[in-house]
Amino acid sequence: MTQNRETRGFQAEVSRLLNLMIHSLYSNREIFLRELVSNASDACDKLRFEALDDAALLERDPEPWIRIAADADLGTLTIADNGIGMSREEVIDNLGTIARSGTEKFLAGLTGESKKDAQLIGQFGVGFYSAFIVAERVEVFSRRAGAASNEGVHWESDGQGEFIVEDVEREPRGTSVVLHLREDAREFLDTFKVREVVRQYSDHVAFPILMAKPAEAGDDGEKRDSEWETINSATALWQRPRNEVSDEEYQGFYKHIAHDFQDPLTWSHNKVEGALEYTSLLYVPARAPFDLHHREGNRGLKLYVQRVFIMDDAEQFLPLYLRFIKGVVDAPNLPLNVSRELLQDYGPVKKIRAALTKRVLQMLKKLSQDEQRYAGFWAQFGQVLKEGIGEDGDNREAIAALLRFSSSAGEEGATVGLDSYLERAAEGQERIYYLLADNLSAARNSPHLEVFRKKGIEVLLLTERVDEWMVGFLNEYQGKSLVNAARGELEMDGEDTPAKIGDSPLTGRLAEVLGEQVETVRPTARLVESPACLVLGKDELGPQMRMMLEAAGQSVPESKPVLEVNLSHPLIERLARVEADGEFAEMAELLLDQALLAEGQLPRDPAATARRLNRLLQEHASGGA
Ligand code: ADP
Ligand code: MG
Repeated sequence: MTQNRETRGFQAEVSRLLNLMIHSLYSNREIFLRELVSNASDACDKLRFEALDDAALLERDPEPWIRIAADADLGTLTIADNGIGMSREEVIDNLGTIARSGTEKFLAGLTGESKKDAQLIGQFGVGFYSAFIVAERVEVFSRRAGAASNEGVHWESDGQGEFIVEDVEREPRGTSVVLHLREDAREFLDTFKVREVVRQYSDHVAFPILMAKPAEAGDDGEKRDSEWETINSATALWQRPRNEVSDEEYQGFYKHIAHDFQDPLTWSHNKVEGALEYTSLLYVPARAPFDLHHREGNRGLKLYVQRVFIMDDAEQFLPLYLRFIKGVVDAPNLPLNVSRELLQDYGPVKKIRAALTKRVLQMLKKLSQDEQRYAGFWAQFGQVLKEGIGEDGDNREAIAALLRFSSSAGEEGATVGLDSYLERAAEGQERIYYLLADNLSAARNSPHLEVFRKKGIEVLLLTERVDEWMVGFLNEYQGKSLVNAARGELEMDGEDTPAKIGDSPLTGRLAEVLGEQVETVRPTARLVESPACLVLGKDELGPQMRMMLEAAGQSVPESKPVLEVNLSHPLIERLARVEADGEFAEMAELLLDQALLAEGQLPRDPAATARRLNRLLQEHASGGA
């Protein structure tokens, strides 16, 4: 008997999503099964968790299970669980009306390439709708744990914009999802096919997944009760001893918890005994998630207490800059009723966090011994790891060892770490030099590198937005100080430092003409081929910091650069001989402008610069004619 039948429209985003599922995601379509099994597993987790407070919820059916049954006659595949179930309101909210937080991002992240897009489904938490990839009609029957049998609910949709929902009588607790398979998806009626897919994607679900053996008609023509057979390993993998778990199993478990298609780059599985007992299984993914750079985005650790799933995104167990790590922490001695608030400043949790942080840094260090694989890691997660230099003073040196930079030495595209930098530095070089620039070609062509090239000293080229902020926290590494090659008076090893070349009348005259535009003008020891360059004052903000602060809406103090001139450059020698004030001023302005351009900055008045250049070219042309 059904009641309160109503027809509702899907929320607009959901409709778009469904349309896409139905029409364009053909590759990897078997992932619908992974998603529905994962929902069933989540439901079992939730029940077990809620039952901690209210054992009555388990009714007379305490052992969690997930069942899959195919019916060739009806053309249906059913995924059922005895988990938490859903009330009518929950069904309406979860399966249609409210766009799940992931839906919009998922739609924005689509590439139009069926295969890639299918891979995004799990990541964005739009799993349920993947049922429509293979089903022309989906029915859901559910009863929430603790609700009466007349509080069951039936939901049904063909994915075309509307669904119906009604109250039904339902004895079993939990949820059954019935897929009426499309003609072209009948392969999923085949038990062997289903087993294969379950083994591939869902082997590590910690609850038994049971498959009905094909029901045979008995002698009397009646179908016998199905026999059920467990088709997954159904253990908590992290609880097994390390030497009994194969690489394939570790990889499979990663794919299961991370909803990823790719194998992880590496992992680390540890059991710690004693007063602070815990087990951790931590993975480094091969690919960054779409929301890596949202610092509020999801985190990848699941927390279990005594094998009971407690929460996803257990952010208290790793610092923010390691948010890309996926895995499981099982801490049997934590209270089962822990909340996020409690975890926040719970002593044991802080200790576990400190230990896990070290563990991850060690794992990365080990990975970094294989430079090629590490380069893959660095390309995906390097920018996030850099946040740790500023945020984690305790581990700064260890994080610094993991950094990679472009460099003035070595091949194009190659990167170098601080250890290799120091290894290849000449004896007696006490400093680590770096240059900040907007991009690599600006850095490589910067006049600031001239003297370093001449002396054969390597300079690290820092071109990412976080770099200036980061090096602000990294004053030294292995006892050697890090020095900005374009800041302050140049101090170089093995020189009478600072390299001073007395004042000259020319610098005074330039300073006078350029006035407020520069802090001062002085002779340089930095340049070989260029006539002049700009230098940051010792405590001045660099351009990257300025951009970051401005982007954050903060006011940034005016800054004036120092202009350093190369007294032995022919252009400067010529300038020194110019007597006419007008001509001198004109050339002085151009000198400053070209130094700005070389830094990748615009002159203050680009139009005036263009006029000056044109005048100069014209004179040159008429002079040469
Ligand atoms: P996600 O699992 O990432 O939340 P899904 O689209 O897979 O997104 O599922 C949407 C929601 O529907 C779930 O969060 C859950 O609340 C509910 N749901 C789906 N399947 C089940 C189930 N078998 N039992 C209970 N609730 C379910
Ligand atoms: Mg899901």
